[in-house]
Amino acid sequence: MTDDVRSAPESGTIVPLGHEVYQIDTRMAGYQGITAGYLIRSERPCLVETGTAPSAPVVRDALASLGVHAADLATVVVTHIHLDHAGGVGDIAAMFPAAQVVVHELGARHLADPSRLMASARMVYGDELDGLFGELAPTPAERIRTVERTGVVDLGGGRRLESHYSPGHAKHHVGLVDAVSGDLYTGDAAGIYIPETGDQRPATPPPDFDLDIALASLRMFAALRPARLLFSHYGPVDAVAEALDRSAEEIRLWVAETRRARRAGLDLDHAVAMVAERTRERYAVFAPDADPDLAAKYNRIAGAPSNVSGIMHWLDKPSAGATASR
Ligand SMILES: [Zn+2]
Repeated sequence: MTDDVRSAPESGTIVPLGHEVYQIDTRMAGYQGITAGYLIRSERPCLVETGTAPSAPVVRDALASLGVHAADLATVVVTHIHLDHAGGVGDIAAMFPAAQVVVHELGARHLADPSRLMASARMVYGDELDGLFGELAPTPAERIRTVERTGVVDLGGGRRLESHYSPGHAKHHVGLVDAVSGDLYTGDAAGIYIPETGDQRPATPPPDFDLDIALASLRMFAALRPARLLFSHYGPVDAVAEALDRSAEEIRLWVAETRRARRAGLDLDHAVAMVAERTRERYAVFAPDADPDLAAKYNRIAGAPSNVSGIMHWLDKPSAGATASR
């Protein structure tokens, strides 16, 4: 076992963001700069997002280098239970035995018993599952605390992290606001931000994506008037209003293009190709002179196949008909 070997984090793994907030590159599937966790190093230290299960040793070593050891971590919060955000919860809970795990009530049972979540992930990802996400380990139910429409995490010293239910990307999604820094942890509710190019892309996977609910969550985020957005993919954005407007615009555009492909009678593969082609010019990451590895990396987490199939899935629901004219 190499489990007890601690190593100093590689350079770039930890980025201080002020207010005792540290961005940690959790290195999903070995990629750099694709999945971020965040440590709030307050009196009661709190980790937001664990990354995947294979990321857990990376996160543990990063926390150790920031002075947060096994007995010190008070809370682990995940914005939602998708495996790139919460796949490491079971391992991190075992490494930090004092930590309470906070999750929306609709996600809690999957952290306690991940068998159904893992089975459906295996259906979607097949043999790629192990290399991308690994295996979510169960967390003892008594260590899990649920939040509902809102909730509070005590960061100590009068500092609080407030959770706000923000479905649309996933029905078990919350955004989190730090009352001291004004940071809003957006999870995937505002899509993804690509720091290398400044692009924003939607994240609309099956089975939960819902246009109206997703847009309502973005309006709720704006009403919270955060000082800064912290994207799980990837990093801080200061121009809050512009970024949230862009998130809504991206979602609307992808829905419109997917609807057009669907009306043309295209099957999923052809619809994906059409929507990808019709949106391509919006993103510097796909420009001919851009780094092809960068595009490949971001296609892993918010690629056109996932986005278009999520929108198609929503359009197939009777409730989507109410918004057909939008
Ligand atoms: Zn994600």
